[in-house]
Amino acid sequence: MKNQIKIIETCAQMREYSLNLKTENKTIGLVPTMGYLHEGHLSLVDAASEKCDAVVVSIFVNPTQFGKNEDFSKYPRNFERDIELLSQKKVDAVFFPSAKEIYSENYQTYVEVEEITKKQEGEFRPEHFKGVTTIVSILFNCVKPDVAVFGRKDAQQAAIIKRMTDDLQFGIKVIVAPIIREIDGLAMSSRNVYLSGKERKDALVLRKSLDSAVKMIESGERNTKKIISGMKGLYSKVDSAELQYIRIVEEKSFQEIEILDKGNSYYILIACKIGATRLIDNELIGL
Ligand code: AMP
Repeated sequence: MKNQIKIIETCAQMREYSLNLKTENKTIGLVPTMGYLHEGHLSLVDAASEKCDAVVVSIFVNPTQFGKNEDFSKYPRNFERDIELLSQKKVDAVFFPSAKEIYSENYQTYVEVEEITKKQEGEFRPEHFKGVTTIVSILFNCVKPDVAVFGRKDAQQAAIIKRMTDDLQFGIKVIVAPIIREIDGLAMSSRNVYLSGKERKDALVLRKSLDSAVKMIESGERNTKKIISGMKGLYSKVDSAELQYIRIVEEKSFQEIEILDKGNSYYILIACKIGATRLIDNELIGL
């Protein structure tokens, strides 16, 4: 059955809509996205609707989180298709502001989280997280959600948003939902459309290298240098792959670790270009 979705384009209307829901005592779940939706995004919508009475999905390709030479202008967009997909889910409203609505000519306020933004993605995309935490703060202020759902696909981003939400006392519950994958294991991403047929096959090296790490850990390896070096071997066989990093970090702090300890949880994080397309993936390991 198709669901009628309210489309909201201004911050003032968004605040008014949320205020009305609150006067009806309804809880609000927010799912922030950049659109070009896939099953990964839709799984976040399901998680939000399980927890809340009303669900708001935001669609905004946020210019401040793209670096100068990144893909902001060519980032895939298809609003009609997104609405079609969302209307098959329990979604009440889509917040779809323009860039001008969010960033006025005189805009000059940014939100920055310190330590945890510096390494891994932060090394390769220096301004990225500042753009993310700024837009998420603006979305929180417009939508005023009780719950916000993010994907573990962007594990460092989710950890940063949790830190920011606690530090700035937003009073919002942040939920992190699992990675949704294609049948062959490639993590779903809006950017996967950039891949040619051959690159799409080559991209499986990310998942394969995570699988090989899991096997090494299952057979008792605890030295992260050895695990990473075993993983790297797989990339040298894929000519379109340009590995940016593989890191093993403690789950909450994102501190890099030399020896894995029993009782702790870790992320194995990968960023790799396949041709011109930059992909990220990760695996959460609990010992
Ligand atoms: P994006 O539209 O790429 O900015 O992503 C919006 C949200 O969807 C973020 O919280 C992502 O982590 C999440 N997301 C993206 N891909 C996936 C996936 N394959 N599985 C689960 N969540 C995802």
